[in-house]
Amino acid sequence: MSSRERGFSLLEMLVVLFVIGVLLMIALPNFRGAAERSQAKACHANQRLLIGQLEQFRLDKGTYPMENGTIDLEQLVAEKYLQSVPKCPKGAAYAVSISGDVVTVTCPVHGQPKSP
Ligand SMILES: [Zn+2]
Repeated sequence: MSSRERGFSLLEMLVVLFVIGVLLMIALPNFRGAAERSQAKACHANQRLLIGQLEQFRLDKGTYPMENGTIDLEQLVAEKYLQSVPKCPKGAAYAVSISGDVVTVTCPVHGQPKSP
């Protein structure tokens, strides 16, 4: 039986382990980044949905859903503009502010979406 048929040499094993290690080092940060990016995208989509439904509410009723001087998102649910008040995938609640006629939705974790 020649040495070739007895299996892999130590050098061959080291080369394979090195290649696997390099591939993992390249892939793992990308996977982690992808989860973060998709959460930020979902968060920004929630914010756009909130703004859109707030504007729709105002078009229909002539005013934003206000309660004690602040925007009340629960009214959007009560009036069936939303099934539920969306939350950031990280669990944070959105800060909704209004200045003049412009309503702004901000996530404490992800900030605001960049303008399209
Ligand atoms: Zn967020």
